[in-house]
Amino acid sequence: MSTLILATGNPHKAEEFAELLRPWSVAPLPDNVDLPPETGTTFAENALGKARAAAAGTGRACFGDDSGIAADALDGAPGVRSARFAGEDATDEENLALFRELVPAGSAVSYVCAIAYVDPRAGVEHVVEGRCTGTVAPEPRGEGGFGYDPIFVPDETEIARGRTVAELTPAEKGAISHRGIAARELLAWLGSRDR
Ligand code: IMP
Repeated sequence: MSTLILATGNPHKAEEFAELLRPWSVAPLPDNVDLPPETGTTFAENALGKARAAAAGTGRACFGDDSGIAADALDGAPGVRSARFAGEDATDEENLALFRELVPAGSAVSYVCAIAYVDPRAGVEHVVEGRCTGTVAPEPRGEGGFGYDPIFVPDETEIARGRTVAELTPAEKGAISHRGIAARELLAWLGSRDR
């Protein structure tokens, strides 16, 4: 299995992807390659923009992702603006605080993740998407994960059992998360290309 270069500056996501994409290995983007701003209106558009920039800068197979949370109560916002919901340089805590002010406990939310794969030598581009649905917890709970995880309660499954994503182990999160679902779809597609 070869190495894929991950076009992200987010260390949390890099860590999750390294686990999720095994047996492929994931290498960080070299420091001299810049990523474009996230100006797209869809997760897929932003993921593709990052993967294309990384592939152009390195000449190697790269993948980029974009993800976020969509609240039914906000007609799908913050969506592609999830990392900047409370302002351009907002912290996870500030974004979460604003989200809790605006989105009622118990209302429906989704995590969405798009992953774009670009292989410049083969001239191939492929985009997959994963979604995890749930509801907003009345109070933040748990120490794991990042971002909106302390208030995201995935829909009932044998794994979730009413816990927030921040209360799941990394393996449990990967089994049901938007990123896990998208990563498994990408792995299946990469495997089918290998044959
Ligand atoms: P980006 O994909 O780096 O543009 O940012 C995604 C943003 O969406 C993160 O900064 C979080 O605010 C949120 N997000 C995406 N995936 C997750 C997740 O698995 N848990 C919690 N928050 C997430």
